[in-house]
Formats: sequence, C-alpha cells, structure tokens
Amino acid sequence: MSKKGKVYLVGAGPGDQGLITVKARDLVSSCDVLVYDNLVNPAFLVEAATACELIDVGKAPGRHTVEQDKICKMLVEKAQSGKLVVRLKGGDPFVFGRCAEEMTVLDDAGVSYEIVPGVTAALGCAAYAGIPLTHRDYGSSISFLTGHEDVEKEALRIDFGKFAATGGTLCIYMGMSKLEEIVDKLIAGGLPENKPAAIVSNGTLPAQRKILGSLGSLTALAEEEGLGSPAIIFVGNAVGLAGTEDWFEARPLFGRRFVVTRPVGQNIRLKKLLENKGAEVLELPLIKILPADDRKLVAEAFAGIATYGWVVFTSANGAREFFNLFFRAFGDIRSFGPMRIACVGETTASVVRDYNLEVELIPSVSTAEDLAQSLVATESLDSAHVLVITGNRNREILVNLLESVGHAIVDTLSVYSTDFSDVSEAVALQDFREKGADALVFSSSSAALSYVEQEEDLVLEKDARVPILCSFGAQTSATLKENGLSVDLESEKPSLDSLVDSLVAKFGRSS
Ligand code: SAH
Repeated sequence: MSKKGKVYLVGAGPGDQGLITVKARDLVSSCDVLVYDNLVNPAFLVEAATACELIDVGKAPGRHTVEQDKICKMLVEKAQSGKLVVRLKGGDPFVFGRCAEEMTVLDDAGVSYEIVPGVTAALGCAAYAGIPLTHRDYGSSISFLTGHEDVEKEALRIDFGKFAATGGTLCIYMGMSKLEEIVDKLIAGGLPENKPAAIVSNGTLPAQRKILGSLGSLTALAEEEGLGSPAIIFVGNAVGLAGTEDWFEARPLFGRRFVVTRPVGQNIRLKKLLENKGAEVLELPLIKILPADDRKLVAEAFAGIATYGWVVFTSANGAREFFNLFFRAFGDIRSFGPMRIACVGETTASVVRDYNLEVELIPSVSTAEDLAQSLVATESLDSAHVLVITGNRNREILVNLLESVGHAIVDTLSVYSTDFSDVSEAVALQDFREKGADALVFSSSSAALSYVEQEEDLVLEKDARVPILCSFGAQTSATLKENGLSVDLESEKPSLDSLVDSLVAKFGRSS
C-alpha cells in the first residue's frame, strides 16, 4: 500500500524563532516537503531534515511570486504522492493568510490536512513593543483589520470611517502603503487626532522598530523614522498605556548581527547567549567534524584501555567523538577502567562530566602547553601510560612535554578530523551576502583557514555591512594574521561567556 500523504497548514509565528509552537517545530523537522512564505524566519529552514524539499513561494517585492492556485495545486500533488507536506506561513494561518483557500482546495481533492495555529503578528508586535491591547477601563475589544490584501490592489478593503465608531483597539495589518489614507478615514469617521496610535515594523525580529504617538502624528512620525512593511498599525486608548520599559529593543546587542562559524550543531550555546542580549545570529559553518577513519588504531587503543593511568582530552569535539566510539565498542561505562582524567578546559570537561565521570585536572589556562605542564606537575606521570585524545590537529608539544619532562609513555588517539565545510551550502549565505554583519566570529584556526579558502564565496553585495573579524583566542588570531587578515577583536579569555562580553564591550549600547 502506498504511503498516505498529508498537508499541515502551519503558523510560524511573527518572526522570533522562539515564538513558533512546539507542534509546528516538530512538524518542520519531520516533514518531507516544506512550502514557505517570505515572512517566515529563514532560521526555521535550518531545522528541516536534510532530505526535506524546501519550496519558497514567498511574495517579496521584485521577486517572482508563485500564484495562489499553483501553491494549492502543489500542496495537493505533493500530498497525493505520499509526502508529509508542511505549508508554513508567517503568524497564524487563519489571519490574513489565505489558509481558507488552501483548505477548500484540499477538501475538494480529498487530501487530509491539519491546521496548527501560530502567534499572529499583531499579538507578537504588541508584546515585544510593550503595547497593551486591552484594559479594563480603556479598551474592551480588539479588531484585526487589513489595509489591503494584495499590494497590486489599489483600493482599501475596509471602510475605515465606519471602524472609527467600533472603538476598542484596532490592529491594522498590511496598512503601510496606505497609511495616510487610513489615518484620514479614521479621523473623518470621528476618531480624534490625539487618539493614541503606534506602529511596529519587523516586530519580534532583530530589525524591530516602533513609533508611539497619536493618530494625528502617525504619518509624519513614520516618515521621519523611515518605518516600512511589514508593520502593524495600532490605534486605541489602550495603546496609550504602552510601557516605558523597552525590554526588547534596549538589550545591549539589539540591532547587531553576528556570524558564527562553528560546525553544525555546535553554535547552540553561543547563539543563545548572543540572542539573549538582543543580537541576530547567522550560522555559516566553516568547518565540519568527521569521525576518525583509522578504525584499527581506535580498536588498538580500546584493547589496552585498562592499562592507561591517565586519559587526556584536548578538545570538546575529541571528548564527544571518543565517547561515541567508546560506547559503540563497549556499551558499558565500566569498561572505561580506573583512568584519571585531564581536560584542556571547562567546555571539554563538561562533555566528560555528562557521563558522570570526574575530571581531576583542568589547567588554569586552556592551552595544550598549560595542560601538559599541569599534568607534569602532578608527578604521577613517571612511566605512566597516558592516552591523549586528539583530532587531526598537531598535539606534538603536549606529547613531547609529557614524554620528555613527565617521562610518561604516551599513546595518541585521533578520534575525529576537521574538514572545511562548503559555505555555498549554508542556508544563511545569501542573507549574509545581502546584508552583511557587524562581526564574523572565528572559534578556531581551522575555521579561519576555511574562511581564507572560501573568501570568494563570501563576497558581500554593495550595501551590505562589512563585518569586523573577531577571534576566540590567540591561536586563531595568529592564523588570521598569518593569512593577511586583521583581527579587530579578540575574546579576552577563550570561553563563550568572555567572547560575548567582548562583543558587548565593543558593540553594546550604553544604557
Ligand atoms: N498570517 C499573518 C499575517 C499575514 S499578512 C499573521 O497572522 O501574522 C502580512 C502582514 O502581517 C504584513 O503586511 C504585516 O502587516 C503583518 N506582519 C507580519 N509579520 C510582521 C512582523 N514581524 N512585524 C510587523 N508586522 C508583521
């Protein structure tokens, strides 16, 4: 029997990645086909499976648009061929999202579907701009209105004059190209010029901008501040109660864009730290981690695992890969034996501690040299068997010191290798080339070398922001400089928190 397809009509929320529902996110990561609009945050696309077919039907000025009936036809065809299709829309699918049309076509074709709601733009914008929509005394109803539904359609869809009498809070979608006309009609309909009003554009996103004023001042303010679409216009007494705490836009890195270049899956913490400070983060992985290919060496080291006195982890990637291989070989932590454990730094140690293993030694400075010196200082090394877990980077200094100064017998086990990853395949590449960024963050020498090799693919378009180069530590800085690049900012210490502090010190607004 052939697999039965299905369509999910899904709301992605207003923009901020954190405002998608858990259900929508699960569907995005498990669907076969993802059909999305231009108001959908491109960061969601990264979450789709590698095999997922991504179809952009976005409507953007000057770009080819896929007509609505073609979109409907596509949904039907993909589902009928047995695919799980997610039709991802900005905000909520039922709020000015043409979901009704798609639903009708699916009904007619007998294709099964489900609908997943999302946070609609008006609610997202209001919350992130601190604009209340109701108040016991000042606003007892909310209306969602649309200025137009199609940029090409000239006339307003709604008689705004009549809505002036409705009272409560008006939330107007798609109104920016007709702002003046809407304001005039509301005033002509009886609303006073001093009626509180606001506009929030690019709400919930790093590019959010807002103006708070009155109906009479709105058009001039919007022009002065250069506010454009997508935006929500708010009108009503409750709007006048907007909070003074600018929790979203006043964060220190708000409006800044940073590019992180670590391997896929390893940017999560840094991304969170930067986003919590208000920054936008683009992921352009410059390197990838590949498992060790010398199975024989791994097998030999594991065969003698009980004989080692110390195991030394020189990187978090090494620790991660080591345990992957270890559990594939043994399946039981007791085979690890009574080895003592040393790690180059806290990040590496935290990988090891995840297995409830105690880390006995971490040098105060996270370098291979300091690690070796701290180990030698323990005096327990003499004639001890030491297993050093590495990647494909040269750890000669460490091994030499352990052998010559510590008189240890050292085996080196390379459990992974780093390779340049192809930036032309990065989802965020186009976004980076079009808009640029404030800083490009290099966390390792290999990332720096990969950048040098692929610089041509990363050339920015004319008006893009040119990023400064920021390095995670001395070694990475040296590699950048050796390749003729300037290092504009170096993290004070080689830790993610310190890196974020350095970026805040350089770019943060003083508030
Ligand atoms: N289904 C969507 C609305 C689609 S209509 C929802 O529920 O939000 C497109 C309009 O939504 C835009 O013209 C704009 O008025 C509004 N909009 C969407 N995203 C927005 C955002 N991040 N900030 C402000 N307005 C937004």
